[in-house]
Amino acid sequence: LYVDQPLGEGASVTLESQQANYLGAVLRLGPGAQIKLFDDRSGEWLAEIVEAGKKRVTLRIVQQLREREAVPDLWLAFAPIKKGRIDWIAEKATELGVARLVPVITQRTIVDRLNGERLLAHMIEAAEQCERTALPELAEARKLDALLKDWPAGRTLYFADEMGGEPFAPAATPGPAAILIGPEGGFTDAERAAIRALPEARPVSLGPRILRADTAAVAAVSLWMGAAGD
Ligand code: SAM
Repeated sequence: LYVDQPLGEGASVTLESQQANYLGAVLRLGPGAQIKLFDDRSGEWLAEIVEAGKKRVTLRIVQQLREREAVPDLWLAFAPIKKGRIDWIAEKATELGVARLVPVITQRTIVDRLNGERLLAHMIEAAEQCERTALPELAEARKLDALLKDWPAGRTLYFADEMGGEPFAPAATPGPAAILIGPEGGFTDAERAAIRALPEARPVSLGPRILRADTAAVAAVSLWMGAAGD
């Protein structure tokens, strides 16, 4: 379970509301039961339930199990798409080990689908299911031109462009990187030109077929992780 409180040897942890309910009512765990917790800061810890109520469960930290994992320095910048599909992108990016998700508002993005709370909940659930010890960051949604204006120097921006680009073959030891995926309606020509004008931009192709934005996101991240993700 992810807990948003610092964990450490001998620390005591209090879980409330749905986490307490999950442990107490759903899993019906009681005192003495042990579970694994992570705080996205100090790694993964074994914790033992001290008392379990319907609304509140208190635990004691027994020992550290794992250090926080090293997260590859890859960002996924994506234009928000249909609600269910954007949740799916957030889950898959978390499973694949992306360091940061950056929602990008483009001309053809229908913005009213972006709910950070909900996305974060999907990311936490995906991290718990894959027993990760780190969470991706979820950045504030940015307009494309603002994102490009203060793009961090030296961070390669692999721009997934179905209108043509180099076959995507990331180097095995890349520096800081980001992948940019457009919305269902694609980028406008002006946006495409603005992105390509960025010195760090590398237009890449994911093959001759037009992929759905969520498919493109997972395909591109997987290619990068396969080459450079550890
Ligand atoms: N222009 C597309 C069309 O004609 O349907 C709409 C955009 S596509 C559905 C969504 C996004 O996925 C694109 O903006 C691009 O970032 C990415 N994408 C899809 N297929 C791709 C490909 N073969 N190579 C690179 N990127 C691709």
